[in-house]
Amino acid sequence: MNKKTTPLIREAEKYIPGGVNSPVRAFGAVGADPVFISRASGSKVYDTDGGEYIDYVGSWGPMILGHAHPEIVRAITDAAGRGTSYGMPTDMEIQMARLLVEAFPSMDMVRMVNSGTEATMSAIRLARAHTKKNKIIKFDGCYHGHADSLLVKAGSGVATLGIPGSPGVPAALAELTITVPFNSIDGVKAAVDAHGGDIACVIIEPVPGNMGLVLPRPGFLEKLRNITREKEILLIFDEVISGFRLTYGGYQAVAGIEPDLTCLGKIIGGGLPVGAFGGKRHIMEKLAPLGPVYQAGTLSGNPLAMAAGIVTLTILKQNGDYKKLDDETAYLSREMGKILAGKGIAHTINRIGSMFTVFFTSGEVTDFDSAKRSNTGAFADFFRNMLSRGILLPPSQFETSFLSFAHTGDDLDATLNACREAARQMT
Ligand SMILES: *Cc1c(COP(=O)(O)O)cnc(C)c1O
Repeated sequence: MNKKTTPLIREAEKYIPGGVNSPVRAFGAVGADPVFISRASGSKVYDTDGGEYIDYVGSWGPMILGHAHPEIVRAITDAAGRGTSYGMPTDMEIQMARLLVEAFPSMDMVRMVNSGTEATMSAIRLARAHTKKNKIIKFDGCYHGHADSLLVKAGSGVATLGIPGSPGVPAALAELTITVPFNSIDGVKAAVDAHGGDIACVIIEPVPGNMGLVLPRPGFLEKLRNITREKEILLIFDEVISGFRLTYGGYQAVAGIEPDLTCLGKIIGGGLPVGAFGGKRHIMEKLAPLGPVYQAGTLSGNPLAMAAGIVTLTILKQNGDYKKLDDETAYLSREMGKILAGKGIAHTINRIGSMFTVFFTSGEVTDFDSAKRSNTGAFADFFRNMLSRGILLPPSQFETSFLSFAHTGDDLDATLNACREAARQMT
């Protein structure tokens, strides 16, 4: 593909396991070497050879305003000039908390952390403490970060690499995590019946983006809410991807459902490391220092991350034309579908708002099992063809592509031209 990038990965591999600091950045599943990025701007990323790509990874979700947005860059540099970390509270943390609780009616209070992983891990601890129960239910193919309890039948890189459950997670802990197929309310009922009174919480990506994009069937989330409420099980919505991605606020507003706890990350940090979890006051007050549930962080509420996040949310609140983003993504995915169909390439495209996945299977994709029926070889072929034409897709069938507000009509047309040539090469 390009010359200088290859030696970089070989060099990185000497010091970093697999040469990457997060397994999803490896291109093994698509039979290529990772692209090393030197800079990014708007809808584009540039590799170390100066190669230009239209970016549909968006740092795996955060970059909804595009890369190096001038107002965000200014906010970060201004904040850095005032010091990068104090280990003491700031006014910016109040502003951020206020923006989040205003956007999420289900949250009275919120605690900032440094990653989505920390948010889900802490929310589960809180749910267990609040309910005085031990077990949790998660869905096959949903990814909630890499905390021990959540690495059972997980999506994202775990799915890409085909790791069923990670070694290093004690069996005694993994046994407390019960997994159910996504969209299966019967599966939820069976799990609840079998494990009776010991289920603390159900954690779910309301719109899973980590087995590729899968949509909840009409009524599924409502039924899940009813069962959990009836059985005094906390419902945790992991909106680390979907928060501020589909509307200003969460998918919970779109679905009209109030979870007990919500986890956030990605977009709310504007590209800096961030996470958050929140819920009703009587639950959140169980956290230290008010309550006994311990959770802490040296860099939590970091001033740079707060600055980037506050500006991002403010821009989205004032100018976030989610309808336009939805229309553009609908256009792109529809036209891609036509091109693939025209060449007789079996595919199914799932899309909502600015998220989409092209699955290389003709069957419906409604859960992890159906996602796994995709022809990952065809995906790899498509991915490499697109990459060589300057289009950067997530390097796995089991991930979601993202559009940003920075993507232009020209970007979409260039992407469709690349898709046309890729489809021709593939047949
Ligand atoms: C990315 C992601 C996480 C983990 O967030 P990190 O910041 O990578 O730790 C958790 N849940 C979902 C749904 C995610 O997509």
